[in-house]
Amino acid sequence: MCKALIIGAGGVGTVVAQKIAANPIFSDVMLASRTKAKCDAIAAAIGGDRVKTAQVDADNVADLCELFRAFKPDIVVNVALPYQDLTIMDACLECGVNYLDTANYEPKDEAHFEYSWQWAYQERFKEKGLTAILGCGFDPGVTAIFTAYAAKHHFDEIHYLDIVDCNAGNHGMAFATNFNPEINIREVTQKGRYYENGKWVVTEPHEIHKPLHYPEIGERESYVIYHEELESLVKNYPTIKRARFWMTFGQEYLTHLRVIQNIGMARIDPIIYNGVEIVPIQFLKAVLPDPKSLGANYHGQTSIGCRIRGIKDGKERTYYIYNNCDHEKAFQETGTQAVSFTTGVPAALGASMWAKGLWRGAGVFNVEEFDPDPFLAELGPQGLPWVEKFDVDLEV
Ligand code: NDP
Repeated sequence: MCKALIIGAGGVGTVVAQKIAANPIFSDVMLASRTKAKCDAIAAAIGGDRVKTAQVDADNVADLCELFRAFKPDIVVNVALPYQDLTIMDACLECGVNYLDTANYEPKDEAHFEYSWQWAYQERFKEKGLTAILGCGFDPGVTAIFTAYAAKHHFDEIHYLDIVDCNAGNHGMAFATNFNPEINIREVTQKGRYYENGKWVVTEPHEIHKPLHYPEIGERESYVIYHEELESLVKNYPTIKRARFWMTFGQEYLTHLRVIQNIGMARIDPIIYNGVEIVPIQFLKAVLPDPKSLGANYHGQTSIGCRIRGIKDGKERTYYIYNNCDHEKAFQETGTQAVSFTTGVPAALGASMWAKGLWRGAGVFNVEEFDPDPFLAELGPQGLPWVEKFDVDLEV
């Protein structure tokens, strides 16, 4: 018996609520968010009074604690925004609740991605005997679990890791983001950064790029950007000599992004407009399509995986492990597109790994620190089958 509280009722929260509600290991399920009406709509679609709902301001520890004391969850699945990670972790410590999220903490006034803020909770979670599971979406999330699986079964040493993320879907809009626009634009407009020979190498945004081939999709221009799982993976796999993250972008998307930046709409600092303080990127979010609304007309697939080179039994080996997810199939099952689906399924599965006692420990953990086998055994049946290829041309 395990009581799960999901916080955040966006695209990802919709998928997490459905998957957790369908899993009998969870005796009680609650979905809470800033706007209760959104939780009610998701709960009504699931039906059968399985999911309770509540309003909560996740920026406010006292508000969170009031809810935690009333519902008494065993685990909180945080799929609100990265800004809320620390307040939710604080409330978990105060009320004795375990924690899982899909994105590392970011301060609102600085587009800065690193685990230091959440890793600083290590001793406090340890002292309370609570588990905090960080970054359990697809990337971060499954990409790190794929790496752990490769290290466990196929390599003595991993030397080169290239995480490749292709979204070859078409939603028919001139410009839209696949998850929260504010978080997405902050992520993709930052400088590129990758790890090489013990150091971080910084590049201009989208400076390094090349065409890569993706299974069932074909060739797509792919760009080196910084992504948070690189930080924990190079720490947990010290044999890595180079780790990079590649993401595909279409020319149309990049042109829109450049214009948005050039005209100041990507600014994250407040400005005064008609006597009211607004943050340009938050205003932009309000006029861009809601990522949840893209699903109905989204066609094509995502393909995300890890391309790895290293040593096994004294010989060099290459290995490619990936999942392809179809936007239309994701929409048919959950009413959301593949990006919400590929994030929500691993988050719900991570929570069930904790509920089954398979992923436990006192402290703060990145997902690659747990056993990848039971997670990957269930990932396919949950809708995200994965494929392995050995001794192939990695192109990177
Ligand atoms: P959405 O913007 O669609 O949903 C976020 C939800 O959080 C909304 O329901 C929002 O409420 C709620 N929320 C925001 N602030 C608060 C607050 N202070 N208190 C309570 N609720 C709040 O985002 P997505 O569903 O697209 O993404 C959710 C998370 O998943 C993000 O953190 C994102 O970074 C992460 N993600 C991770 C990926 C991975 O692979 N690891 C990939 C994609 C996303 P309201 O409805 O009122 O706005």
